[in-house]
Order: sequence, then structure tokens, then C-alpha cells
Amino acid sequence: MATIVQKFGGTSVGDVTKIKRAAEKVKREYDAGNRVVTVVSAMGKSTDTLVQLANDISDSPDKREMDMLLSTGEQVTISLMVMALKEMGIDAVSLTGWQAGIKTEPVHQNARITNIDTERLESYLGDGKVVIVAGFQGMSENGDITTLGRGGSDTTAVAIAAALNAESCSIFTDVTGVYTCDPRVAKKARQLQSISYDEMLELANLGAGVLHPRAVEFAKNFQLPLIVRSSTVDKEGTIVEEEASMEQNLVVRGLAFEGAVTKITIERLPNRFHTMSDVFSSLAESGIDVDIIIQQMTGENEMNVSFSLNTEKLSEALQVLENNRERLEYKAIRHEDSLAKVSIVGSGMISNPGVAANMFQVLSDNEIEIKMVSTSEIKVSVVVPEENMVNAIEVLHTAFELDTREASKVTIS
Ligand code: ADP
Ligand code: ASP
Ligand code: MG
Repeated sequence: MATIVQKFGGTSVGDVTKIKRAAEKVKREYDAGNRVVTVVSAMGKSTDTLVQLANDISDSPDKREMDMLLSTGEQVTISLMVMALKEMGIDAVSLTGWQAGIKTEPVHQNARITNIDTERLESYLGDGKVVIVAGFQGMSENGDITTLGRGGSDTTAVAIAAALNAESCSIFTDVTGVYTCDPRVAKKARQLQSISYDEMLELANLGAGVLHPRAVEFAKNFQLPLIVRSSTVDKEGTIVEEEASMEQNLVVRGLAFEGAVTKITIERLPNRFHTMSDVFSSLAESGIDVDIIIQQMTGENEMNVSFSLNTEKLSEALQVLENNRERLEYKAIRHEDSLAKVSIVGSGMISNPGVAANMFQVLSDNEIEIKMVSTSEIKVSVVVPEENMVNAIEVLHTAFELDTREASKVTIS
């Protein structure tokens, strides 16, 4: 008997009709003789609604209480899904994250799963029940409810699939698979048949919201095939696996992007061994994530340091730097907001020099200014003005031969 793990995202369970439709898919797998565990997200945009409620009360809501609040969203869906299955004559049971044995670090709002105690899951599966699990949540060793970060239900599904030695994990969502770029933005984006774990991990980390990065990490660590497919259109999805075949020898598999980027430049810092560690440890201690870093000597004993970060963190970062002005001994701070990061990703880059040069050429031909650059073996990211972001995506998508021949084939349900 095969064990199947499926996950339905928020839009796929957005109302009662959709929940019933998702339940049909669960039933199909169950009727085919499989042991089925289904992970569900909160209905539609209900997590956003809960976040808004908290923000209406406090500018900085308590993190433990946020987890308590947000975990309720998924709890609504699991019970409704079980009711829908029971109406179809299927024996099913709902479990919250902690009831399903999901243990996490004692961190609120962005916890990592540390272990899954599968005893209860196995016992219900052994009784022939379908098990419906609340995504995005777990419990820390001190007994508090934790959540896994926005989009974290993907990670719940993959972690359960790994723990149960499932054959694969299917992520049902509102697109038919992983595309060369977000099809809502890149009109010529085309669905990929397959993509490697490493490429998907880069894309997810660089802003492609279709999969939670930790879900891809788990799938890679456990060599678990991950399938992204539509919850409404009956179409083959995209498989995320170790080796993806390189279509037409393309070096770039896909593009990702993130808006709301700000570049901060700290001017004329003293050139000392510990300057860099002083700057970035003071930011890290305040929980400020920085992204691209550039260091530039401006004189024999002075340097400028620039870094990018999410604009949401700008005022906090400026405050931290101001508080550390005497210790860091810089002369001035500048910042530039309304920027965006656009990245190209592909394993083919490893063996093809000149990909970054091509990217820069295409952007320069289109008069798009590059503010910052960062590279790894399989990606190149550039920071550009946000007003040029969509244009940058489109010209790069075409230049790296990713366009679909029939743009109209892109399906968003
Ligand atoms: P769910 O609620 O099912 O988890 P998400 O909104 O988290 O759905 O993820 C699906 C969305 O991801 C799509 O609607 C699409 O706009 C976006 N997306 C971003 N990048 C990509 C990509 N490369 N391929 C497909 N979808 C993408
Ligand atoms: N409901 C959570 C969110 O909206 C988790 C998820 O959907 O994966 O982020
Ligand atoms: Mg999601």
C-alpha cells in the first residue's frame, strides 16, 4: 500500500465548494487503495485577516500570541475537510500540528520542524482512516504552539511525507505547476516539466512564492519527489527532483524577483579588521536580515559598505546604525529605496561562462540601471529600480529563451 501525502493551499480551500472539490481529490487517492494524509492551509486569505486583526490592536504583537492566533486558521479547514469527506462516506480524522506529532524549535513565527512523532498518524492510517493535518504549525518542547513562517504548510506536507516514507508529495495550488517565472507577472512564462531541487531552492529563496523554501530543503534532504499541480485543472504538474533534464540546453531555468528592496550605504568607515563584523553583528543582533553586501575602499584608511534589505526593515536598520554611530565611527549614511531584485537561476550556468555578462548586456541594452549584483554557482541577482522590475523580467525572460510560444496557454485558475 502506497502512502500519499497531498497539500491544498489557501486558494484551493477558499470556500466550501472548493473544500468539497479538494475532498474529491482526497477520495480518489483513498479509493485507489492508498494510505492518504492531506495537509491543508487556512481558507483563502484568512491568515491575512488574522494578521490584520492583530495589527489593529498592536504595532508589534506578541509573537507567542501571534502563533496562537494564526494557527486557528488551519484548524477551521481541517474540520470542514473531514466533514466533507464524511459526507462522501470516507472515514477521516483531523489533527492539529501538535496532535500530528510535529515538534519544532522554540521559536515563534518562523520555527523549524525538528522532529515528527508519527505514532498517532500511523495508528489512524492503520485503522484505514484518511488523516487531515493542519499545515504551518507545530509545538515546541515547552508546549507552546509555533508556526513555520508564511507559506509554511508546504513544509508541513513535505516533512510528513519524509517521516512516513511516502512515495511523493503533491502540492495542489492555484497554478498548474512551477513556471519559468511567476505567471501573474511574466505573461510569457511557461510551465516547466521538471526542475532540480537546487534550482527550485534558489528560486524559492529569491522570491518565487510557489513553494516554501524549507519544503524544498526537506524534499532534497530526503530525496522525496515533490509535485506541484493544479487543484482545479487536470493537467500534469511540475516535478521537483534531483536531476531535471535540461530542455534545449537552456542555461537559465527560471527567474525570480522581489520588490520593496532598499540599499543602505554607510560612508567612510575606518578600515579595520573588525569593521565589517561590528556593522553586521549590530544589525544581526537586532534581527535585521541583510541580503547583498558590497564593500569598497574609498581611501587608504576608509571604506564604504553598502547592503540591501527589505524596505520594511529600513527604519529599524537606520535606528540601529544611528545607535552604534560612535562605535562604528562612520561619517554618513545614505539610502535608496523603491528598488527590486531580479534573479536568473539555472544549473546550466555552472558549465557556461558569460551568463552574468549576457544578463548585464541585456539590461544595459534596455537602459536598466544595475545598482547591486550578487552571484552563486547557479544564480545571478541584480538590484534595479523597482519601476524597471517588470521590464527587466520580460527582457531577460526573452533573452534567455524562456518565452512560451503561445503565451495564452498559461493557466491561472
Ligand atoms: P497556495 O495558497 O496554494 O500555497 P501560493 O500563493 O503560496 O499558493 O503559491 C502559488 C502562487 O505562486 C501562484 O499563484 C503564483 O502567482 C506564484 N508564483 C511565484 N513564482 C512562481 C513560479 N515560478 N511558478 C508558479 N507560480 C509562481
Ligand atoms: N496559512 C499560512 C499562510 O497564509 C500558511 C500557508 O498557507 O502555507 O501563510
Ligand atoms: Mg503557498
